[in-house]
Amino acid sequence: MIFENSLQFAKNQDQNDPLYKYRDQFHIPQHEGKDCIYFTGNSLGLQPKSTRKYIEEELTDWENLGVEGHFHAEHRPWFHYHKFLKEALAGIVGAKPEEVVSMNNLTSNLHLMMVSFYQPTKTRFKILMEAGAFPSDQYAVESQLRFHGFDPATSVIEIAPRNGEHNIRTEDIITKIEQEGDSIALILFGGVQYYTGQYFDLKSITKAGHNAGARVGFDLAHAVGNVPLNLHDSGADFAVWCSYKYLNSGPGGVSGIFVHERHANNPELPRFAGWWGHSEEERFKMQKGFIPMAGADGWQLSNVNVLSSAAHLAALEIFKEVGMNPLRAKSELLTGYLEFLLNSMDNKLVQIITPTNPKDRGCQLAIVVREKGREIFDALTQKGVVADWREPEVIRVAPVPLYNTFEDVFNFYTIFKKALDS
Ligand SMILES: *Cc1c(COP(=O)(O)O)cnc(C)c1O
Repeated sequence: MIFENSLQFAKNQDQNDPLYKYRDQFHIPQHEGKDCIYFTGNSLGLQPKSTRKYIEEELTDWENLGVEGHFHAEHRPWFHYHKFLKEALAGIVGAKPEEVVSMNNLTSNLHLMMVSFYQPTKTRFKILMEAGAFPSDQYAVESQLRFHGFDPATSVIEIAPRNGEHNIRTEDIITKIEQEGDSIALILFGGVQYYTGQYFDLKSITKAGHNAGARVGFDLAHAVGNVPLNLHDSGADFAVWCSYKYLNSGPGGVSGIFVHERHANNPELPRFAGWWGHSEEERFKMQKGFIPMAGADGWQLSNVNVLSSAAHLAALEIFKEVGMNPLRAKSELLTGYLEFLLNSMDNKLVQIITPTNPKDRGCQLAIVVREKGREIFDALTQKGVVADWREPEVIRVAPVPLYNTFEDVFNFYTIFKKALDS
């Protein structure tokens, strides 16, 4: 694709974009009577217009049926509501349906997965992760280490970019795994790094981890619905994600887990159990003796959060229709266009720290602004740009292929350039 620095080019791209029509399925926040340039789908995805209907259907069933809604809801019986989400979720993360389930929230799920997959011994107890991981992941890891009696200061191996670089080299990750070898119990990496937007090589990390005898899991908060994933083929032991970023399922919405099928029926794995993970046929016998359901379902604790799951379902239906591959194709163009425009400014104070190879990133670009970054960010906000500021000097922007347009990208560039020039 040969990009052009003009509004007309952007408009033509929108006209030829087969996914352009999906923008109309979302509520776009307004600024002074016009659509915002909403570039924070990496933080909170926009609301599909269909979400209200899905939630109202559940409210109606609750209103009319009370407890009977568990089995006799007119729309979707609540008893196995998670099953309505499974197929679409599996498609999005590249897993078998039995390997995924929606439940709880991300950090809770991360803890549950570590209960099962972080089993330290006296000699193999370290956790390897990316330096500067999302704080919640760092806190979860530190507290798990302490819970098992280890000192985080000596038990976390962090991998950082080389001096003067912003992204972590896969070769450095693999070398570190080989060096630390049998001291590593667990490798926990982001799928897409929340700050830089780097998309890690899940398959290579998993392979190296397994060769070293470690378990390997991923936090896909910034990857799910953003980049195509092949979790099953990657061989990862587990993964977790949230649904409110690229999956547009509402603030604090129900999140999800992946457990590889080779663990589906392994009774040796420790786990924290609850009645919703117990065999469905036996569940209401209310008896002693936990019998886990096969696959990821066996990790469920509680009965389904139906209202949140309804919002999740509304959004997943859109993903099912669009498909991750067309979405990714548009995403590469949209983000590529933003990169092209930013580079055309040739401004020494501005630097994109996200990988330049589209294969190594999702839709987000992290832009370092060396001087007056905060002031420039505030100027953007005043012009109706919704972006994200991260101390000390980064503006994160995510043109989301489901609802952002090439015109959004061009208008952002124009506003950004003006703010820099003044
Ligand atoms: C957004 C995000 C979280 C948030 O965790 P919640 O439990 O959903 O509040 C955690 N980890 C990563 C990597 C994230 O990007």
